[in-house]
Amino acid sequence: MIAWHPIWLLRTVQFLGVASLILCWGQADILLVVLFTFLIAICGQGIGQHRYFSHKSFKTDDIKHKLLAILATLSTSGSILHWSAVHRYHHENADTDKDIHNPKILGYFKTFFMLYNPVNIPKSFTVKLRDLLKDPVVMFTHNYYWFIILSYIIFLAILGPTYLVSCYLIPVGFARLSGGIQSAFTHGLMGYRNFDIKDKSTNHTLCNYITFGEGLHNNHHKYPGKYSFVSHPAEIDPTGWVIEKLWRK
Ligand SMILES: [Zn+2]
Ligand SMILES: [Zn+2]
Repeated sequence: MIAWHPIWLLRTVQFLGVASLILCWGQADILLVVLFTFLIAICGQGIGQHRYFSHKSFKTDDIKHKLLAILATLSTSGSILHWSAVHRYHHENADTDKDIHNPKILGYFKTFFMLYNPVNIPKSFTVKLRDLLKDPVVMFTHNYYWFIILSYIIFLAILGPTYLVSCYLIPVGFARLSGGIQSAFTHGLMGYRNFDIKDKSTNHTLCNYITFGEGLHNNHHKYPGKYSFVSHPAEIDPTGWVIEKLWRK
């Protein structure tokens, strides 16, 4: 039996992150924002949560495995176990009644902010998480999830508001923006399709630029096991390039 974390706490922190994207630039240090958005949103959520732990789309070494687990945790997008459960279930049931973040059912606002309840995932689905349940690094970050995040927040708060805003809140806001764009806007709302598959996933060029490659969502639903989402010479996937250069063994 998996103990899920309180979803309202997760969404509150993410909402503060999105609000800080709009309200807190006066406190931010732009170089720190760029560096920590790269680490937390792109490496933590896009690479760690999505392409590495959820899809196992590439292999890496032990140290980078641990580093990706910490960065994924700091993205405050849910524990790796939580994120992977929701995402693997989404891929199996995309755009059906079972899809817990289907924008046609949940609505675009709720889908953008992931205002669903993870207990909607059937208990029988736990069998699809066996690889993660056996991973001690994943389980450590799940069991000590809020302890890790709170320790990081307290450390930054002691350094000062500039660090809290630049190294945590804005990167978390960007991670939510990226996740929200993929879930809400590239499932039938707009964009183009390279592959006529059973779900409504689309690629969208502007969404793709904003999310650093995660907007090639139709390509990704066609080939979820590929770490690069590019399927056409005119498409770019900076996140896939970072995996190639930095994270892949
Ligand atoms: Zn999708
Ligand atoms: Zn995926």
